[in-house]
Amino acid sequence: MALNIEQIRKDFPILSRKVNGKPLVYLDNAATTQKPVGVMERITRYYSEENSNVHRGVHRLSQVATEEFEEARRYIAGFIGAGKPEEIVFTRGTTESVNFIATVFQQFIGAGDEILITAMEHHSNLVPWQQLCRRQNAAMKVVPVNERGELDMESFKNLITSKTKMVAVAHVSNVLGTINPVEKITGLAHDKGVPVLVDGAQAIAHLPVDVRRTDCDFYAFSAHKAYGPMGIGVLYGKEEWLNKLSPYQFGGEMVDQVGFKETTFNVLPFKFEAGTPDVCGALAMETALKYIEKNGIENIRQHEDELLEYATRELKKLRGIKIIGEAAEKTAVLSFVAGGVHPYDLGTLVDQMGVAVRTGHHCAQPLVERFGLSGTVRASFGIYNTFEEVDIFIRAVRQALDMLR
Ligand code: PMP
Repeated sequence: MALNIEQIRKDFPILSRKVNGKPLVYLDNAATTQKPVGVMERITRYYSEENSNVHRGVHRLSQVATEEFEEARRYIAGFIGAGKPEEIVFTRGTTESVNFIATVFQQFIGAGDEILITAMEHHSNLVPWQQLCRRQNAAMKVVPVNERGELDMESFKNLITSKTKMVAVAHVSNVLGTINPVEKITGLAHDKGVPVLVDGAQAIAHLPVDVRRTDCDFYAFSAHKAYGPMGIGVLYGKEEWLNKLSPYQFGGEMVDQVGFKETTFNVLPFKFEAGTPDVCGALAMETALKYIEKNGIENIRQHEDELLEYATRELKKLRGIKIIGEAAEKTAVLSFVAGGVHPYDLGTLVDQMGVAVRTGHHCAQPLVERFGLSGTVRASFGIYNTFEEVDIFIRAVRQALDMLR
């Protein structure tokens, strides 16, 4: 079903503002998405009418907040196809979710063990594993990426060994837009008894996510990349795994009985949620994901695919443009370089024309270096982008290139 984009745009007040005297063309959705009024209203309503701490109050407001917080957990579990709400742990976002697992996994990692990641990981799904390997004298192995920006699956098969203790892979690359074959990856990893963590930061707002079909052991994402607020996200973990893991942080809420000598811990998921959670964030994330559900993730995907295809075609008509990332399975992200022009200069000039794109290594420095570059220009799409905006973007790039050359 075709989305009514004009109607959708009315839900995002920021889209009607001007930047540098020009109507804003926001093409930095991979960094963060804009927020619909419903999400903002949910935040206001929570703090105007419902604010209270959860899980330990006898009074009415606390009970309402607790019920709504746990309802948000149930909804989010359903949204990603998790079996049980207990498998949803609220975190600050993807980065904290990965750090959480890379920290508590230490108990299973010894000298000589291996962690397998890919060459297209965001620093958030690279550095925590690298530091874990350092602490434990383990080795981090890296699955290479081909010229089109696809994972080399033959290498992947060879790199999983009896020493591998975890596979960590992005669902979608934030630089290349590549959609990785996560189902196939979990199948291959599980054949060797290896768990898989999927970084879903760039997938959650663009593709259907079904953790049970994918059969991944862990799935991480941030609300702010899916029309929700900053500072909250999710770590999904299979119940069997979460039960095996030690707590990540200690404090209130995550305990059962506390004494000066001994402490016992709470049940899932509370064992992993030390301290007061971001209750409002969880409710606003639920509202944001409901917004996606209302519009239909398949409809969103189709719209963004059409924008990506159109933008790619038009961009290639400009002289000296090289697209970085031309995987057969790709979504919502368009990275490129222009011969002889620094990405930063190009980004700055198109900003003068109201077009927000991102330049640099996009927190995936080893990947960008793999393509012999220090940076790219990246346009990334969301539900509210239009073909007219793509035209403005292309025109801005053309003018900027004329000026810079
Ligand atoms: N992984 C990927 C693929 C990302 O694109 C990002 C955000 N750019 C992250 C992880 C980190 O997300 P956050 O900053 O919300 O924790």
